[in-house]
Amino acid sequence: MNKIEAAVKMKCPRCHEGDIFETKNPYRLGKMTAMYKNCPKCHLKYEKEIGFFYGAMYVSYMFNIALFVIATVAYYLFFEDRVNWLWYILGYIFLTIALFPLLYRLSRSIWLHAFNKYEPNKVQH
Ligand SMILES: [Zn+2]
Repeated sequence: MNKIEAAVKMKCPRCHEGDIFETKNPYRLGKMTAMYKNCPKCHLKYEKEIGFFYGAMYVSYMFNIALFVIATVAYYLFFEDRVNWLWYILGYIFLTIALFPLLYRLSRSIWLHAFNKYEPNKVQH
């Protein structure tokens, strides 16, 4: 498993084995944000300092910009003559809300992977 795969699968950045989130399904109500404090396998502390995950908002922001650009370009290329722009915007808003739990988790996972190296032999006890 490489770093990108581990980030997408939301695995611990250090051992690539332990899960970051308590449930696999980001759409399970009440469990969307439930993270382990430490990796269940190697015990890496995920939130290395208070507010560490605020930075994940920048990752989330980039995803939203990318989504917006793709949606806007797609509208002018394929839908401009066929779909009323108001419906298109409503659809876009719906998509953003629907993707939120997934992107929230992915952003945190990517943020963790950006600040932690893959060190499978370094285990804390
Ligand atoms: Zn780990």
